[in-house]
Amino acid sequence: MIMSAVTRQNYDAIVVGGGHNGLTAAAYLARGGLSTLVLERREIVGGCCVTEEIAPGCRASTTSYIASMLRPEVISDLRLGEHGLRMVPCDPAIQVAFSDARVVPWWANRERAVEEFRRHSVKDAETFVRVDDQLKKLARYLQPFFLEPPPEIDAKSFYGWNDLFRVGKRFRSISSQEIAQLVSFLTGSLGEFLDRNYESETIKTMILANNVYGKHGGPYQPGTALGMLFHLLSGGEHQLQGFYGHVMGGMGAISEALAAAGRKLGVEIRTLSPVAQIQTRDGRATGVVLEDGTEIQGKIVFSNADPKRTFLKMLPERELPEDFVRAVRGIKMAGPCAKVNLALSEEPRFTGTPPSHTPFERTFYTIVPSLEYAERCYDTAKFGDIPEELWVDCVIASNADDSLAPQGTHIMTCFVQYVPYQLRAGTWDENRELLGDRALRKIGEHAPNVPGSVIARQVLTPLDLERTYGLTEGNIFHGDLSLEQLFFVRPVPGWSQYRTPIDGLYLCGAGAHPGGGVTGAPGHNAAHQALRDWKKGRFKAGAA
Ligand SMILES: Cc1cc2nc3c(=O)[nH]c(=O)nc-3n(C[C@H](O)[C@H](O)[C@H](O)COP(=O)(O)OP(=O)(O)OC[C@H]3O[C@@H](n4cnc5c(N)ncnc54)[C@H](O)[C@@H]3O)c2cc1C
Repeated sequence: MIMSAVTRQNYDAIVVGGGHNGLTAAAYLARGGLSTLVLERREIVGGCCVTEEIAPGCRASTTSYIASMLRPEVISDLRLGEHGLRMVPCDPAIQVAFSDARVVPWWANRERAVEEFRRHSVKDAETFVRVDDQLKKLARYLQPFFLEPPPEIDAKSFYGWNDLFRVGKRFRSISSQEIAQLVSFLTGSLGEFLDRNYESETIKTMILANNVYGKHGGPYQPGTALGMLFHLLSGGEHQLQGFYGHVMGGMGAISEALAAAGRKLGVEIRTLSPVAQIQTRDGRATGVVLEDGTEIQGKIVFSNADPKRTFLKMLPERELPEDFVRAVRGIKMAGPCAKVNLALSEEPRFTGTPPSHTPFERTFYTIVPSLEYAERCYDTAKFGDIPEELWVDCVIASNADDSLAPQGTHIMTCFVQYVPYQLRAGTWDENRELLGDRALRKIGEHAPNVPGSVIARQVLTPLDLERTYGLTEGNIFHGDLSLEQLFFVRPVPGWSQYRTPIDGLYLCGAGAHPGGGVTGAPGHNAAHQALRDWKKGRFKAGAA
């Protein structure tokens, strides 16, 4: 356990949970002058942005595996580069391994990507350029909303009207055609969009492979086109639209850099410190009680845990309004994905990889042969079964960073969807290895040397994501990223501005706007909201 020499029990701010958003919030709070404590239940910080050993000397990004949307502002404000963060753009950004033994790259450079697409359909390559321009433009309208609270929908106060005015101003130059496009991307299905606009099944599959990750719904479900916009928000330190990056040292290097930045600003971090309860007095947060009974006081409390864990487990129900509790219970979770992490005695050899590919270009392989395949996979999982045919996203991280495994050994992390949280028959403890076997079989169809070279295999089912990483129902985004759970209705209507019905309690994790993914945005926004409240003198007579 990391502790200061004298165990202090009184702080301005306590952050429950040391996920990357909790660490981000803590660093900004400390930068704002607040004495800040982070309490993490696990032995390491990072939540689902970690690097962990899965076999002796073999380190893997066990949960999240690609950095795409980490906010450039967070990287520069907290000087994460000085704390060891280094990201290298994935190139190809993605690469699909098809059933007919073709491997098709989507190069990071647009001209090069278009050249590749042209080989499959000249018409589609032109459509791609047109749509990419449209999407990038629309994404730029949405981008500023990422790092600020959504407007209050109940705009009765001056601040509420001001908020709505702020939003309106952003869209004053948008054309009616762009509004129609925006609505269509926000509400339409990816599958229908692709069928309408593209003729080549290869190109449709490439675009599918770049979208709909971790979300409930097959590609023909309304709202799945939204991913195309999300992915074009700029990321990485150079603010590139559509950025995908390998993090040197694995995803945990992001959390380590955030923790180091926080400590430099005065944040105290205690691991192995699970919080049992958030304490309140007269409707106001006053501190926390750890599972071992230790009481720690704070003038304000932040929760980096998901909304269900925060409000249904850490607070007595009687402290919260009934309709609020009902809304929290109704948040759609039921994580539809899993992870299989492998340590391998040799590099996976995906059939069809061009011989000219460098090791770095042999890092990323997505196995999803078609839109129909993905839709069937979701349908099977929707009814509680583990699909025979899975969608697997493989990253041979050791080809991007050879420090992750001893020489000659390789790390391949495999994101798997779709799987049910609730199995129709049996339990996940009984079916964990079945899932691992099915994922490995699918990989073996494309990289035949993989099944025979496994040194270690870690299978993380939705239940394991819940047990180990604290994600309610294994939902990787702290709540599905569907339109009815986004923006001013995230986490629940009326409470999208990080404040909660408990005065001085803020939600700072992925369950808050703008949602999941390794962005640092909810942590950044929640801290700024609290600092504004703090400056107004709202917590002067607090507990500490
Ligand atoms: C398998 C998987 C793959 C993913 N892939 C990607 C990807 O490639 N790219 C990407 O951008 N995103 C990806 N994501 C999503 C992304 O990782 C998450 O949405 C994001 O990391 C959530 O961050 P957070 O800080 O809000 O919450 P979390 O990371 O969930 O952190 C919450 C923290 O709170 C702690 N906690 C909970 N309850 C308590 C308590 N009572 N007391 C003390 N501590 C507590 C938890 O232990 C945890 O450390 C993936 C997630 C998973 C699980």
